[in-house]
Amino acid sequence: MIKVFKFGGASIMDVQNIKNVGNILQEYANQELVIVFSAMGKVTNMLENVVDSYVQKSANTNIALQKVKDFHSIILKGIFKESHPIFDIVNNLFVEIEWVLEDEPNQDYAYDYDQIVSVGEFLSTQIMSAYLQQVGFENTWLDVRDLIRTDNTHRNAKVDWETTTDSIKRNVKTKHAITQGFLGCTSENFTSTLGREGSDFSAAILAFCLDASEVVIWKDVPGMMNADPKYFPDAKLLSQVSFDEAIELAFYGAKVIHPKTIQPLKQKNIPLRIKSFINPEAEGSIVKSKIDKMSDMPSFIVKENQILISISDVDLSFIVGNHMNQIFSLLAKNNVEVNLMQNSAVSFSICVDNDKHKIPQLIKDFQQFYEVLYNVDLSLFTIRHYTDNSFDSFLQDKDVVLEQKSRNTIQLIAR
Ligand code: ASP
Ligand code: MG
Repeated sequence: MIKVFKFGGASIMDVQNIKNVGNILQEYANQELVIVFSAMGKVTNMLENVVDSYVQKSANTNIALQKVKDFHSIILKGIFKESHPIFDIVNNLFVEIEWVLEDEPNQDYAYDYDQIVSVGEFLSTQIMSAYLQQVGFENTWLDVRDLIRTDNTHRNAKVDWETTTDSIKRNVKTKHAITQGFLGCTSENFTSTLGREGSDFSAAILAFCLDASEVVIWKDVPGMMNADPKYFPDAKLLSQVSFDEAIELAFYGAKVIHPKTIQPLKQKNIPLRIKSFINPEAEGSIVKSKIDKMSDMPSFIVKENQILISISDVDLSFIVGNHMNQIFSLLAKNNVEVNLMQNSAVSFSICVDNDKHKIPQLIKDFQQFYEVLYNVDLSLFTIRHYTDNSFDSFLQDKDVVLEQKSRNTIQLIAR
């Protein structure tokens, strides 16, 4: 039965890590695998800088692109002989970006973004495919644009499941397939992206369509933790997590898996393993439907760069039904998802990611009808299965702006 593996940027950020992934895959060489790669290291961020610089018509666009080239060049020189055909393949991918950059920026930022940023995954998969071939791990490189069909909501494209299922079933017919995470293709044949960190979701889409037996996400952490080890050094491993709990944790912002990943897996009851590429022998975490015992350990989740927007009626009347309708249509129009909301007699507050490409327009739209106040540089803290103890120590050094409590979960917006 097919398994889907996903390797993120950190797992292939340098020559040493790339070799490590090669060693891991050799262990699974006798299995049928679809292997999804993200862009290497922080390449997506680097390409975002290229896009930003391009749309601002800055003179630094070429410098920003050169950084991406240099990064890949070091890796190529570290693993291939000078005569290897991969050098041409990589050059051609950069030429594709240069073609885009030669034209005037499009009106549609999100479209330009997808055409440029997507190259990160084409680079990583071409390099990984060539490297794995070189070390004797036979594989076939597949263009995910022949597999995943989406609508044209660039930067946050929605999957057309029917076409996608059909294409994946038809085109994935090899023992070891390698393909790009994060990307899809519109019906007009333009590259789309599924949202930052979307490669986990790509793995889930492939698993769903192929009825895979398992998805394995290889990470630089031991598995799913009850807190982000970057903020909480004594974070603990959750060895088993139910699909429902995983959806909750991902929804609140646990970075270990992309929120859209679990739904398709749950629907087909395909277990998800999260394993460490640093310690591949270890069990890691498993997310599945029936777990032995639900952990009651509190989980701490932090979402940074939040903005709290408060909307009130100009004449201070109640925020009522048709206002809500309008507020939500404006959110939908600007493609903004709400992380937390709160209603009072005279105002309605929403906490959202402060995306500099979406929020200024959203605020402008609100201001046409309402009085709008906002607060930036906030973080949204969520504690699942909180205890009074966990809560108090957490609160100590924080200036809390808003708090919401349900039976299982506390959420705080704080500075
Ligand atoms: N490379 C993309 C990103 O960094 C997708 C992913 O890593 O999942 O957002
Ligand atoms: Mg990534």
